Amino acid sequence: MTAQIIDGKAIAQKIHEEVAAAVARRRAAGKAPPCLATVLVGDRVDSATYVAAKQKACQELGMTSISHRLPPDVSQKEVERLIKKLNASKKVNGILVQLPLPSHLDEERVLSLISVEKDVDGFSPINIGRLAQKGREPLFVPCTPAGCIYLLEQAGVPMEGAYAVVLGRSNIVGMPVALLLIGKNATVTVCHSRTRDLPSLVRRADILIAAIGKAEFVRGDWLKPGAAVIDVGINEKPDSTKQKGYRLVGDVNFEEAKEVAGYLTPVPGGVGPMTIAMLMRNTLRAAEIQDGKEAPALSVPGRRSASFSTTQK
Ligand code: NAP
Repeated sequence: MTAQIIDGKAIAQKIHEEVAAAVARRRAAGKAPPCLATVLVGDRVDSATYVAAKQKACQELGMTSISHRLPPDVSQKEVERLIKKLNASKKVNGILVQLPLPSHLDEERVLSLISVEKDVDGFSPINIGRLAQKGREPLFVPCTPAGCIYLLEQAGVPMEGAYAVVLGRSNIVGMPVALLLIGKNATVTVCHSRTRDLPSLVRRADILIAAIGKAEFVRGDWLKPGAAVIDVGINEKPDSTKQKGYRLVGDVNFEEAKEVAGYLTPVPGGVGPMTIAMLMRNTLRAAEIQDGKEAPALSVPGRRSASFSTTQK
């Protein structure tokens, strides 16, 4: 079998076009363009690159962005003061705090301070809590997990009744993607570093989401023939033919997997572009929610439209 490669770049581009069109309609109606405030603490090069890409996307789609860069030794109080200021600002629709924060800062407290209706990353306890509860709806779903589900939907992979294995249980990928799959009526096993005999669990999976951060860890002979494989991992693999001395690979051995899987995302060009696309959707959604609209044009991916009061904190 040769897997159908899911083109995340093309699918993300379509989302960008939809969002850009909705932003243009807002502007034409005399409304302000959605505005994303980014908060970057410290000088991690990877974090700065991700934030720059998010701001560039805002610009390309006709949105605005405000960048806040804080020194690595900034105090907890100072960060909290900034979040409160952004919560209160009428100009700002979405707030994104780039993770990870330096270890002296209380990440949980910072995320819990973000107003639920501006939480475009979907990491505040209220949004995550609602994602975890049956019959409840978050206002925003975390971007990378939402992107994984969107790719499965676009590829036409049935989730209802499917057996799904999620490798990784992080707050930002593994756990929320498992919750989304459960919401889609899949039966889900979440695996982590203490899981015994990973290959035998993976071999049963109709759907595999790999998010562990280990280069080419999942081998082709672990996969069930025809499985849908979503590779979230982004890992540097030494490659002397490249100028940088490395190339990016996923958590799945792509060459082996494509001979066995039914569907497979590449790295790069699979999940990566979807993360920013979902952030742009969420930022537009935030602006629409703050307009007081009952039903935003773009619903929460993978969920019903939000049905609880947007004034709830
Ligand atoms: P993380 O916070 O480091 O979590 C890794 C998870 O993998 C943990 O739950 C860990 O288990 C588990 N794990 C580690 N080694 C394992 C092993 N040998 N067997 C089974 N499970 C193992 O990572 P993350 O933030 O979720 O990111 C995961 C990967 O996705 C990274 O490569 C990251 O760069 C990538 N990523 C990509 C995007 C994107 O936009 N495409 C976005 C976010 C992340 P324990 O809980 O037991 O430690």
